[in-house]
Amino acid sequence: SFQSSNEVRRKFLDYFKQHDHKFVRSSPVVPFSDPTVAFVNAGMNQFKSVFLGKTQPPAKRVVNSQKCVRVGGKHNDLSIVGQDSYHHTFFEMLGNWSFGDYFKKDACSMAIELLKGPYGIDPSRLYVTYFEGDKVLGLEADKETLEIWRSLGFPNERILPFGSGDNFWEMGSTGPCGPCTEIHFDHFPKANGNRAALVNAGTPFLTEIWNLVFIQYNRNEDGSISQLPDKHVDTGMGFERLSAILQNKTSNYDSDLFIPIFDGISRVSGAPGYEGVFPDGNNKCELDVAYRILADHSRMITACLADGMLPDQNQKLRRVMRKALSLSEQTFKQPTLLDNVIPIVVDILGPTYPEMSLKLPNILEMLKNEEEIFKSLRSSSSSACKELIQQYPALQDLDIMEISGFVPAFRELQTQSFPNNTIPGKILFKLNDTFGLQDETITNIAEILNLQMNKKEWQEEIKKAKLKSTGSLDVQKKNNFDERVSSLTKSLRPTDNEGKYQYHFEKSS
Ligand code: ATP
Ligand code: MG
Ligand code: MG
Ligand code: MG
Repeated sequence: SFQSSNEVRRKFLDYFKQHDHKFVRSSPVVPFSDPTVAFVNAGMNQFKSVFLGKTQPPAKRVVNSQKCVRVGGKHNDLSIVGQDSYHHTFFEMLGNWSFGDYFKKDACSMAIELLKGPYGIDPSRLYVTYFEGDKVLGLEADKETLEIWRSLGFPNERILPFGSGDNFWEMGSTGPCGPCTEIHFDHFPKANGNRAALVNAGTPFLTEIWNLVFIQYNRNEDGSISQLPDKHVDTGMGFERLSAILQNKTSNYDSDLFIPIFDGISRVSGAPGYEGVFPDGNNKCELDVAYRILADHSRMITACLADGMLPDQNQKLRRVMRKALSLSEQTFKQPTLLDNVIPIVVDILGPTYPEMSLKLPNILEMLKNEEEIFKSLRSSSSSACKELIQQYPALQDLDIMEISGFVPAFRELQTQSFPNNTIPGKILFKLNDTFGLQDETITNIAEILNLQMNKKEWQEEIKKAKLKSTGSLDVQKKNNFDERVSSLTKSLRPTDNEGKYQYHFEKSS
């Protein structure tokens, strides 16, 4: 039977509400009180200060669906997006929390009961993992969780131990941490071979769907581990992965979250439709990859711009926007394609995240603006590129025609003379921030021009910029942002996703 993605989300929220969880809205995707990340990348981000004991939780039990972006930082899925069937730059994470309330046993039994009951998943297609311990890190195996899964009916051959890479979670080098247990789903249970060997092997055939983290330890300054007075549960399930499963699809892109976007792209551009034989075949068909990237990026762009993030302040957003714009132009031959695609994204996600519907005109305006910047950068570059290559043949290896801001950036370096032949941090920063060059390209140009780079200054510039950008530690900025968010919420229409649109954190500080 087919369960629409809206039903899937609703069932999750309802199930945990029925188990006394309080619904908390998704926070914006703009990171807050955390200059180390460019985006909110998990449901727990807005509860970090609760785990650190600095803030009261909104309730002992909480449920939400969180807008997440994984571009840059520890979780960077950008380069795989479009190539596989189950990683996106933007995705929704369904999560439930216990703040000092229930622990492992209830978390596991509620999870499996939801998957089997309301969702109707055949449990014989599920594998679970538990933490096997790590002597070097001084961590014990999580035998308790192993026993819990046995008691819930899992046979030994589908309960698998893994090390700290997959099954131990730490907030940072110090602070709250603990073992996790994950639930994986076999898309092809009838296939031959050792299926269990595919768990955590990075294949599209058997994928991780749900991560349940048990925060029970604190990592101290001296590296030692101590027990936390309050134990917490923090879970996150991939909404697109779950929706695909419940629609009998082996790829997230074949679910109702993406199909209407593909239809729109094809209708407006006139390109042949998305084929979607995936992931059982080897679908690296160039057009399909382009479809997936464009659909994925449109969702990410919509989510970020709706939350007030600006490409000027976030280079990673700018890069994704430019990639989407160049696919529209080069592959789909329709430079303004996104103007038609983004409203489709809003049709799909707007009922759940009303800020997207509300901000649609602003999103389209920002897009137009970015399109113009991008266009003028490129029109000034193509013939100039050829000249530069004649002058510096080594540039051929850099594919510089692809890099829009290359010519003005290169000219700037070429014409200036730097003390000690070293490019200062400010200029290095500008090459990335204003001209959009990747770090690797910058390094290559410096080499071609026989220049050194002041990397230390460069890092400092990056840090400074992060602190300046929206949602950082800067209190003034944060207050402005809160104001913007609250003016946004005033005009929101009532929806499924009730509750205030804000971060859960302390007002003062
Ligand atoms: P994977 O190993 O598949 O990359 P992960 O271990 O990095 O996933 P977690 O950090 O444990 O993911 O996040 C919780 C859940 O969020 C995952 O179990 C998965 O269902 C989902 N998820 C993670 N990254 C993505 C992504 N890029 N796109 C879609 N869903 C994702
Ligand atoms: Mg990952
Ligand atoms: Mg994983
Ligand atoms: Mg995981």
